[in-house]
Amino acid sequence: MTQLTQLLAELQERFGADADAAIGEQALENVRVAYLGRNGEVTKIRRTIGTLPAAERPGAGKAINDAVAAMEERLKAAQAAVESRAVDAELAASIDVTFPAIAPAAGSIHPVRRIIEESCDYFMRHGFAVVVGPEAEPDYYNFDALNIPSDHPSRESFDSFWLTDSVLLRPHTSPMQIRTMQEHRPPIAIVAPGKCFRRDALDARHLFQFHQVEGLLVADDIHFGHLKGMLTGLCRELFGSGQRVRFRPSYFPFTEPSAEVDTTCPKCRGESAEGRCSLCGGSGWIELGGAGMVHPNVLREVGYDPDVYSGWAFGFGVERLGLARYRVDDIRRFISSEPDFLAQLS
Ligand SMILES: [Zn+2]
Repeated sequence: MTQLTQLLAELQERFGADADAAIGEQALENVRVAYLGRNGEVTKIRRTIGTLPAAERPGAGKAINDAVAAMEERLKAAQAAVESRAVDAELAASIDVTFPAIAPAAGSIHPVRRIIEESCDYFMRHGFAVVVGPEAEPDYYNFDALNIPSDHPSRESFDSFWLTDSVLLRPHTSPMQIRTMQEHRPPIAIVAPGKCFRRDALDARHLFQFHQVEGLLVADDIHFGHLKGMLTGLCRELFGSGQRVRFRPSYFPFTEPSAEVDTTCPKCRGESAEGRCSLCGGSGWIELGGAGMVHPNVLREVGYDPDVYSGWAFGFGVERLGLARYRVDDIRRFISSEPDFLAQLS
């Protein structure tokens, strides 16, 4: 019995090694026939049962059957391995490893963010500091301190989303001018980018939530020429060399004198015939925003003497800059989250 057990153990071990070594289905079949076939090794052992004492025969038969069952299990596993290797080989033959891979989708910097960053970079190179602040502000910072008292009609055009009777989502980034001037003495040179909110209905040119980039310079002897120089440089930074800047007289409560700022149409460079250019309508100019010399009342409000200090400020809508820079026909596309659209703009 012990001898039989040892014999079966050895047989199984050899069978296992042969099955593992078999490459391909035919080789494995040969192993099966050699061990488990009609004239195979197991049959030879089974024939020896007759030579055993009668009492040992049932035990010997069971031991052989158990060994056969284990070998058949082992055979199945070996067959599965052979099949899997065959599939792998087939796949390997069908894969062209030199074929260009499908690149994973990568995001890109949002065009609005890019314009803000480039604008800030430009001003930082000229010694300006970037300041950011609250998006909800008391009406004092949004209006009163900017020379817009509560009965002033221009509040209407800046009206926004009121959170309480006295706090509202800021309609412009100008509160940061007041906050900065309250905390520091001149010279002041800041650029303030950020979100703004107005009660505008959505259309191709308006969003109720948008971004502004605003600048303020206050020091001795600051004049309009400095403003024109800095804004011309900014336009060249954002739209390319050769850009020019034009001021049109305007009115804002917080600047005096005030101006609307235009730059040369980046599409037609001002050379389009009347009505031909879809970006500027043939005028040759596109509007960027407002600017002017800081109103003496604003300087007084923060404790600066307007006879000593003067300064300029400007505010541009970032999405409006984007319309011109990227020649986009509808401002709502900037908030549409279309990756294909956004990835084109850089
Ligand atoms: Zn044009």
